[in-house]
Amino acid sequence: MTRAPAGGEELSEGREHLLNWLRDAHAMEQQAETMLSSQIERIENYPKLKARMEEHLLETRQQAEIVARCIRDLGGDTSAIKDLAARTVAVAQGLSGLFVGDEIVKGSLASYTFEQMEIASYRILISAAEALGEHEVAAACRGILAQEEAMASWLEQETPATVWKFLKRSDAPGLVAKH
Ligand code: MG
Ligand code: FE
Repeated sequence: MTRAPAGGEELSEGREHLLNWLRDAHAMEQQAETMLSSQIERIENYPKLKARMEEHLLETRQQAEIVARCIRDLGGDTSAIKDLAARTVAVAQGLSGLFVGDEIVKGSLASYTFEQMEIASYRILISAAEALGEHEVAAACRGILAQEEAMASWLEQETPATVWKFLKRSDAPGLVAKH
């Protein structure tokens, strides 16, 4: 196994990478906010899922602020261009849910996938921040990681119930199953 470089070593390229990865994470959180908002708006018959997503939406907004603060502390600025592109993609993904008859299931799939991507991203950020001796950034990312892991495991536990409810409602005349 390779060892991480000791903290505080001269790694100016490394700092640029860390800054870029933080900007990616900031764009990712903005995308998460758009995706969560558009899904929450449409959910009618899955109150437990909706409530947990509302909770995570608040966390997501705080995460975006924490990541932005990390970027500024490292002397970077939060670029708007990349974030805007990610938002457009998220809106398209949110809207695509309108055209499927199983959007609650497709939404669960997308949410779980997204949380896993966030977990992987923050693990990378923590490793990089530690290697560069940026312990405050590492600590901030650890706090966010814990929230992403909690959301992922909640979704993992709740998905069977969502799928069963969807299937049950699909078979019941006059009941809406898809959202
Ligand atoms: Mg997040
Ligand atoms: Fe998340």
